[in-house]
Amino acid sequence: MARLILFGPPGAGKGTQAARLAELLGVPHISTGDIFRGAIAAQTPVGVKAQAYLDEGKLVPDSVVIDLVRERFSQPDTHPGWILDGFPRTVPQAHALDALLSEIHQGFNRVINLEVPAEFLVQRMLGRGRKDDSEDVIRRRLQVYQEETSPLIDFYRDRSQLTDIDGSVPVDEVTASIQSVLSEDEDAA
Ligand code: ADP
Repeated sequence: MARLILFGPPGAGKGTQAARLAELLGVPHISTGDIFRGAIAAQTPVGVKAQAYLDEGKLVPDSVVIDLVRERFSQPDTHPGWILDGFPRTVPQAHALDALLSEIHQGFNRVINLEVPAEFLVQRMLGRGRKDDSEDVIRRRLQVYQEETSPLIDFYRDRSQLTDIDGSVPVDEVTASIQSVLSEDEDAA
């Protein structure tokens, strides 16, 4: 039963690792960023609401994100497990996730905190060329991460639910480190 939260600053490689682990573990990869980008491309009501926030590197309001995650967790493919990427990103989102999981009688294995030095992050994001990866928007996203998202590190660390992983090494090595943390959890279970 794999239920995993991938955490880290923008550009840390959460999306890459989440996709690989989802494939390896046979569970859905739930990326709030991907969901928003899809909604924007399709110009759905959520997409129309989210667009300006993504373009400016700001966080989409908690209520919008929380409704979207709730709706995603109501889909049956999430029953065997899931990998969350990009959520929670604020303390209220973390509380909302606790409430949602307790309603559906689920927990999670672990929060994986991908650590990558700040100077690598900007380079990685500039290299991938997404629409919100211009230098000024990147700087805004890093600032928003520091202010609103990084407090979640202590939130989950205090609950002994967080493990730090070095995200600056090659992609395969990062995946292997995460897998070894997961198998330790299984051994302990
Ligand atoms: P990255 O991890 O590189 O920042 P994401 O794809 O996770 O990229 O997110 C892109 C954008 O989508 C964010 O800058 C934000 O505007 C929006 N977004 C994604 N997840 C959330 C969330 N949980 N809360 C608020 N906004 C979000």
